[in-house]
Amino acid sequence: MGQKPTLTTSAGAPVASNRTSKTAGSRGPLLLDDYQLIEKLAHQNRERIPERAVHAKGWGAQGTFTVTHDITQYTCAKLFSEVGKTTEVLSRWSTVAGESGAADTERDVRGFSLKFYTEQGNWDLVGNNTPVFFVRDAFKFPDFIRTQKRHPRTNLRSPEAMFDFWAAQPESVHQVTILMSDRGIPISPMHMNGYGSHTFSMWNANQERFWVKFHFKNHQGHKHYTNAEAEALTGKTREAYQEHLFSAIENGNFPKWTMFIQVMSEEDAGKQAYNPFDITKVWPHGDFPLIEVGELEMNKNPDNYFQMVENAAYSPSNVVPGIGYSPDKMLQARVFSYADAHRYRLGTHYEALPANAAKNTKVNHYHKDGSMRFFTNDFGNPDAYYEPNQHNGPVADESVAEPPLRIDGDAARYDQLESDVDYVQPRALFEMFSDEQKQRLFSNYADAMGPCSSSVKLRWLEVLEKVHSDYAAGVRAALES
Ligand code: NDP
Repeated sequence: MGQKPTLTTSAGAPVASNRTSKTAGSRGPLLLDDYQLIEKLAHQNRERIPERAVHAKGWGAQGTFTVTHDITQYTCAKLFSEVGKTTEVLSRWSTVAGESGAADTERDVRGFSLKFYTEQGNWDLVGNNTPVFFVRDAFKFPDFIRTQKRHPRTNLRSPEAMFDFWAAQPESVHQVTILMSDRGIPISPMHMNGYGSHTFSMWNANQERFWVKFHFKNHQGHKHYTNAEAEALTGKTREAYQEHLFSAIENGNFPKWTMFIQVMSEEDAGKQAYNPFDITKVWPHGDFPLIEVGELEMNKNPDNYFQMVENAAYSPSNVVPGIGYSPDKMLQARVFSYADAHRYRLGTHYEALPANAAKNTKVNHYHKDGSMRFFTNDFGNPDAYYEPNQHNGPVADESVAEPPLRIDGDAARYDQLESDVDYVQPRALFEMFSDEQKQRLFSNYADAMGPCSSSVKLRWLEVLEKVHSDYAAGVRAALES
C-alpha cells in the first residue's frame, strides 16, 4: 500500500489532528481557537442545498449516445452529423412530487432528463416518461404543483386537491389516464420510455424548419408494479430504483434506449384538428411515424452522486444550433423557469459545475463576477471584459441563427378552453387497454380517489364520461365496491 496523502485544511496547510478536539485540560471545555473543529462542523451544516421544488428524488447515470441513422435532412446539429458519431450523456430520472427522501416506487410521473455534451455546447432534453402533461398553459403550472405537494395545515399529500384541480382542467385527463394506468409505477428507470413531451424544432443546413417530437424507447421492456406490489416493496426498501439501476450498471447490464423523432412540416402544423404545440396532445404515430435516430446506452455510475446527479441542472433553454423551441406555451415558460430554478438552487454560475460544464467545446461568455465565479474568462486579455471591444474578445456567430419564424395574431390572453378534441386521444388510449389493464386502471383510481369528497369524485367522473362511458362506469363501480 502506498503512503497515504497528508490531510490538509481547505487552504492547503497540513492538519495535526482530525479526531481530537482542543480542550482546556483533558476533562475541560473546548477552546474557540480549535478552528478546524469549527470548520468541520460549519461545513457539515452546509452539506445540504435547497432541494428541487419538483423532481427532488432522482437517480442518474453516465453514458453514450450513438447516431445510427442519418437525419441531416432535418437538422444541422453537429451531434447528428454522421452515422456512428458518439456523444457523452448524463441522465437523471426522478419522481415529480416526492421529496428527496421519498420512496422510489410511488405512483407518479417520472422525469427523464438527458444532457448531451456536444461539440457545440450542451443540449438538454428535459422530458418525462409520458408523452403529454397535465396542463398546457404555464400560468397553471405553479397551482398544479401545489396540488401535488403537502397541504398547508395537515402537512399531508391531498388527493382532494389533486382531483379538484384536475376536474377543473379536463385537458389533464390524458396525462392522468397514463398515471393511473400500469405505466404509473415502472419497476425502474430502465423499464420506462422517455419522451421530450413538448414539440421542439429542428432546422437543416438549408435553413428549413421542421417541428419535432423526441421519443426514447427502452430495450429492457416495459415492466411495472401493481399498487399492491409497490406497497409491499416500499415496506422493504424506499430505494428500489437506486438499488436496481446502480447494481445493473455495476454488473455490466447497461440499459439502452432507441431514440426516434416524429417530424411535422410547418405547413402540416396548421392542418391538424388538435394544436400540435399543445403538450396535452401526442402526434398519432399513424400520421407522423417514428423515425429512428440512434441508441442511448447508460454505462457508468457516477463516482460521486452529489456532484454529478444532485448538482445536475437540466434546462430546456440548453439547445444547440439545429435544435430549437416551438410555440408550445409550456415549453416557452420552462425555457425561463428551469434555468432560473438552478440559479436559485445551485448559484449564479451553476453551469460551471462539473455535471453541467460543457465538455467538448470552450465556453466563452461575458457574465461577470457573482457567487461561484471560480473560473477565469478573460480570454487571455483582461481588457476584453465587455462587448464589442477592440481586444479580440469573443463575438457572436450569425451563421448559427435559426430561420425566422412567422408569427401573426393579436397579443391577448387566449383562454385554452376545454373542447371535444381534449377527449379524443385519452379515448384512443383507453380503447387500447386490455380488459385486465382497464380493471387495474379502475382499481388504481379507487385507491387514489378513495379519500376524496363526493363532489370531487362526481366532477372527475363527469370528465371520464366525456372520454368514454365505460371508463366512467368502471371507475364509479370501483369507487363503490
Ligand atoms: P399507436 O398504437 O401507434 O401508439 C400507441 C402508443 O401507446 C405506443 O407508443 C405505446 O407505447 C403507448 N402505450 C401503451 N400503453 C400505454 C400506457 N399505459 N400509457 C401510455 N402509453 C401507452 O397509436 P397512436 O399514436 O394513435 O396513439 C394512441 C394513443 O396512445 C394516444 O392517444 C396516446 O394516448 C397514446 N400514446 C401515443 C404516443 C404517440 O406519440 N403517438 C406515445 C405514447 C402514448 P410503446 O410503443 O412504447 O409501448
